[in-house]
Amino acid sequence: MSQNEVSEHQIQTAKRIIEVASRIVVLTGAGISTDSGIPDFRGPNGVWTKNPEAEKASNIHYYVESPDIRKRNWELRASGELWPNVIPNHGHKALVNLGDRLHLLITQNVDGLHQLAGTPDEKMVEIHGNTRNVTCLSCDYVAPMEDALTRVRNGEEDPECPLCKGLLKSATISFGQSLINEDLMKAENSIHECDLLLAVGTSLTVSPINRVVPLAHSLSTPILIINGEQTEFESLATLVLHTDISSTLQKIC
Ligand SMILES: [Zn+2]
Repeated sequence: MSQNEVSEHQIQTAKRIIEVASRIVVLTGAGISTDSGIPDFRGPNGVWTKNPEAEKASNIHYYVESPDIRKRNWELRASGELWPNVIPNHGHKALVNLGDRLHLLITQNVDGLHQLAGTPDEKMVEIHGNTRNVTCLSCDYVAPMEDALTRVRNGEEDPECPLCKGLLKSATISFGQSLINEDLMKAENSIHECDLLLAVGTSLTVSPINRVVPLAHSLSTPILIINGEQTEFESLATLVLHTDISSTLQKIC
């Protein structure tokens, strides 16, 4: 079934599935942020398509090895081109309406839009990190991204850690870096505790986080999938809606 072929009956069924749940785990991916204008990286006008060198900065090995790549990445961030100012859309806001029934929101996105919409930090797991902060690759130093960008705008080409002079990097998990085990455990535990898994805007192809779907299924927990396109694991879902994400979430949350 393609977009816009979702019937009113399916919408009502989805609404009912959410209404009767009291401990909901939500997993979100890039699809929920599309309506906020988050740049697409690999599409025809993607940031990486237009600027292939920028993609190298997202690989930890290139980032660590090349001062030039770091310098250009800081320039790109300081210019605002990499992450333009974006605001949460109706989809992010609709999930806030779940209130206390939201058990955990796991996101594959690094844009911070769920928190900006009002989802509390303690109910979030950002499995791929975030772009709000910078971290030191050698010690535990963490600081707001804006502080680092101010240093770049004031002339530092490759700002270093003020504690240990190590390399600073956005707090995202780059290609070649390990996910944070504590976050993975929190996500997995939440599936054992929830009574509904809602997967939104994710193709469910990115491992290991996509494994929460078969896990929920093995526990006989209902699974609701909402995405613009086909996803993995649809056969495990209680209901799948291939439809517009933000308007649908508004109707059913
Ligand atoms: Zn350091």
